[in-house]
Amino acid sequence: MTLSIYNTLTRTKEEFRPIEPGKVRMYVCGPTVYDYIHIGNSRPVIFFDAVRRYLEFSGYDVKYVVNFTDVDDKLIKRSEERGIPVPELASTYIQAFLKDSEALRADKALHPRVTENIEEIIAFIAGLVENGSAYESGGDVFFRTKAYPKYGQISHKNLDELQHGIRIEVDERKESPHDFVLWKKAKPGEIRWPSPWGDGRPGWHIECSAMAAKYLGETIDIHGGGEDLEFPHHECEAAQSEALTGKPLARYWMHNRYLNIAGEKMSKSLGNGLSVRAILQSAKPEAIRYVILSTHYRNPINFNDESLKQGEAGVERLNNSFTNLIHRLQILTEEKSGWKPDSDEALDALIADGNRDDAEESVREASRALNDFVARMDDDFNTPDAITAMFDLAAATNKYLLAEQASVQVLQILRRGFERMDSVLGLLYSAEPSAEDAEIEQLIEDRQEARRTRNFGRADEIRNELTERGIILEDTPQGIRWRRK
Ligand SMILES: [Zn+2]
Repeated sequence: MTLSIYNTLTRTKEEFRPIEPGKVRMYVCGPTVYDYIHIGNSRPVIFFDAVRRYLEFSGYDVKYVVNFTDVDDKLIKRSEERGIPVPELASTYIQAFLKDSEALRADKALHPRVTENIEEIIAFIAGLVENGSAYESGGDVFFRTKAYPKYGQISHKNLDELQHGIRIEVDERKESPHDFVLWKKAKPGEIRWPSPWGDGRPGWHIECSAMAAKYLGETIDIHGGGEDLEFPHHECEAAQSEALTGKPLARYWMHNRYLNIAGEKMSKSLGNGLSVRAILQSAKPEAIRYVILSTHYRNPINFNDESLKQGEAGVERLNNSFTNLIHRLQILTEEKSGWKPDSDEALDALIADGNRDDAEESVREASRALNDFVARMDDDFNTPDAITAMFDLAAATNKYLLAEQASVQVLQILRRGFERMDSVLGLLYSAEPSAEDAEIEQLIEDRQEARRTRNFGRADEIRNELTERGIILEDTPQGIRWRRK
């Protein structure tokens, strides 16, 4: 099996071939840090991190860059409104973004900032001016789109169509209405840096070209972002980079579709908080990941209370299966003193070999589920079908756990299957025992104590409470063991 990616550039699914074998260089346009991230912004954060995770799962060494736009019109406007300097405002929301992406378990990117790369950006623009691809006009610098015949390659539009399709304001400083700004002259009182064209700051598009080149090289493997960035942002990035280096900026261009928020009902129940941090106050991060990943990235998501509930229910089912499995494994291995676990490599070999005739049925099922998972992810990152494969593994696990006798090795193989899939999907709760687990352990202990002191009324009460919470108690020679229904 090989990985295929839908490339916006060619509008087809193509086999993925990295520039350098075994390595992937990937750039995704990051947030403009003037506010908290909205649930809609969490889609590229979670999805492209899953791409990064899957590439690593497949054995690639991935260098992943997501920039911070920490100076632009929106930041300047908000800084004026609040009377806070731009760097201070940016720093607040950068910290908030890092915290949110950590909570969403999507925090493994390198994050260069525009304001830390001004020198590289100026050098990039100077190179474009020098080779005739850009021109200065009244302290601003513009890209000369007429000098770049491939303009329109990403959005599949030609300049004439653009002329008719989009309202373009006449700007006398420009040679052509399609020309876009690379360097903006500073207005009085605005944040500024000196440049060969006078004081000013970079335009938006140029930052990504300059930072992708600096951190990843002239041509990168994958460039990603939301569909709204296809035009003009990515079109402009591609034009600038190729006009300077003579090489394409990226081999594969990937775009995720929008997340739509279903109207009033949603905003009422969640207050005004459609920011990730507000939603995280009442929802588990894994449930948000589930909502995002259970729709293919090239389809729109309709986000509402119902989808969040389904997300909670979905991760609950997967986690119950996994927790019960780990619990059974712990009990069995505690019984066997001096027992040593099989290495992950040995387990991977057993899973890979799961179709041999003498393999247990559950091992065959685990093997099939993992193969499905890989096949679906290889097909343009089909995360919804990959989640289905994880449910297949959970079903095989639940069935196996009903058996009177369980083999440690089979349990380990099932566990390893979960861990492999979850290294990409991130749907299993953190490994630390939850507060609820601790509460349940405490209740079981209290019940034992009640029985010892012949307080059977209390013991029954606790048993009923546990039953109501979906906890099943089993008396075994090794003591009480519990699992979720
Ligand atoms: Zn960008």
